[in-house]
Amino acid sequence: MATHEKVDVAIVGAGASGSVFAAVLAKAGKKVVVLETGPDWQLSDLISSDFWGRRIKTAGAPFLLEGKNPFGYSYQSGWGVGGAALHYFANLPRLLPNDFKIRSEHNRALDWPISYQDVAPYYDKVARDIGVSGNARAEEIWRPAGEPYPMPPMKTFRNGEVWLKGFEALGIRMVPAAVGMNSTDYKGRPACIYDGWCHIGCPTGALSNPLVTYLADARKAGAEVRARSTVTRVLTNRQGTRVRGLEYYDAKKERQVQEASVVVLAAWSAQNPRLLLNSATDRHPRGLANASGLVGKYMMCHYSSGTWALFDEDVQNHLGTTGAQFMSYDRYGKTAHPGVFGSSFIVAGSALKTSDLGGFANARLDLFGAELHAFMKRAARGLTRIGAFGEELPNLDNRLELAADKDEFGMPLGRLHHSFDQDAVGLWNANFEEGLRIAKATGAREAWSARGNMPTIHLMGGTIMGTDAGNSVVNSYGQSHELPNLYLAGPGIFPTAGASNPTYTIFALSLRGAEQLAAKWRAVDL
Ligand SMILES: Cc1cc2nc3c(=O)[nH]c(=O)nc-3n(C[C@H](O)[C@H](O)[C@H](O)COP(=O)(O)OP(=O)(O)OC[C@H]3O[C@@H](n4cnc5c(N)ncnc54)[C@H](O)[C@@H]3O)c2cc1C
Ligand code: SF4
Repeated sequence: MATHEKVDVAIVGAGASGSVFAAVLAKAGKKVVVLETGPDWQLSDLISSDFWGRRIKTAGAPFLLEGKNPFGYSYQSGWGVGGAALHYFANLPRLLPNDFKIRSEHNRALDWPISYQDVAPYYDKVARDIGVSGNARAEEIWRPAGEPYPMPPMKTFRNGEVWLKGFEALGIRMVPAAVGMNSTDYKGRPACIYDGWCHIGCPTGALSNPLVTYLADARKAGAEVRARSTVTRVLTNRQGTRVRGLEYYDAKKERQVQEASVVVLAAWSAQNPRLLLNSATDRHPRGLANASGLVGKYMMCHYSSGTWALFDEDVQNHLGTTGAQFMSYDRYGKTAHPGVFGSSFIVAGSALKTSDLGGFANARLDLFGAELHAFMKRAARGLTRIGAFGEELPNLDNRLELAADKDEFGMPLGRLHHSFDQDAVGLWNANFEEGLRIAKATGAREAWSARGNMPTIHLMGGTIMGTDAGNSVVNSYGQSHELPNLYLAGPGIFPTAGASNPTYTIFALSLRGAEQLAAKWRAVDL
């Protein structure tokens, strides 16, 4: 075992949230080490093929899945430098003001300890940092005004445009989607070429993955990224009052210790609580930062109601990006659909490949042989899809625990329990019904719901923020209530999920937390 020279900041995970902390703190002159369990991916590893693309998907110790609606984590998590954000779709909508005060306004779920106005300046700053394309003015029919996006909206294609007639018929306003992709050259990165391979990583750098944004800044400022380093425990001092570093296993599976003044856990919603629970000591018998008993609790996700439509015309469904072309918050009110509770966020228009998750080979699972062949021939030109994401409310029973089974380093596996409640199922169904009404109003030849098992998308919660150690794990900056030099980053700190994709908010909250840490460094690094 080796003990590495003490650094200012040790970060676990080189994905979306860890990269932001690394960039801000390295630029503030701190010595930063990022420990990342997976490989050190480069843009040249991103090959535009669904078969090659499998290499960059999640790996490592599995989670044990339980409950009525087990989390489909393998599709959503990341592995290696860049994390899941290496191959995300870069839809970057934000939360809205109504997400932050659900308890106060509806006596349901939880309030955030901050409001939309606290996060808004960071949305604007992230947009400038990473490059966001969109039309902020158009979005401002639903939210307070902010800065314009640094790039105009992306191009649209027939596969998105054919839906507009249907949305208009139902009075649903669609605006250009906000995406982390380049509609023009931006900061030395090229404009998008609309070939639709984003889901397995954009090899040109047109998509704002961490490699070409925050992590590049961090490395330039001197941060070290140590790939193939799997963290297993957060180490504390003898009194249990502060963290002192991390235990990890290197590429040769040898145990190492990295000492640090501050530790940031940015290993995603499921891994962060697993690490905290596995770091229990005599002083913290239930796991670190867990006086509230809430570590691993209130795990949440989104679910999507997709609607397929088959047109006679060629909708050029191979063109575009994997992100959306249009979006709408017109069903974002918590009671927008009668009889059920929660927000819905609508998207339309994206490139389809043959066999990727949203690809047309998966559009009619009931067809085989000659019938499937005939369908695929028509679908290759005429098929397109819309989707509505739904909000799941926080529920104590949806949780991560440690299992008795262990991984190759002797660390207990995480067990994820998850079941949807009646509100979620009701909202899922309401969005399917509305999707079909929209599709029928487009004049499509055929339309059907993309039903299957209820999907679990974008895992959030598990280390939620709140006002104190009685009701939460961290404060609004991600700082542990109990261990002042321990920070948590990522969607795990959301106390509610909203319905919009989470990563814009992950970037914004990480930027807010990292800037606060840099500003009050002396108070934290005692
Ligand atoms: C296909 C796909 C499409 C998506 N599309 C969108 C989208 O359009 N919009 C959106 O908002 N979001 C999208 N997401 C989700 C988005 O990628 C995540 O919300 C975001 O990356 C989460 O950030 P994070 O920092 O918490 O985790 P990650 O970015 O996943 O980073 C966590 C990192 O920690 C590492 N790690 C884990 N455990 C350890 C350990 N023990 N030791 C060391 N390192 C460890 C992992 O290898 C990983 O690199 C998508 C995700 C996928 C997979
Ligand atoms: S569509 Fe654009 S963002 Fe997506 S992979 Fe191609 S160039 Fe990159």
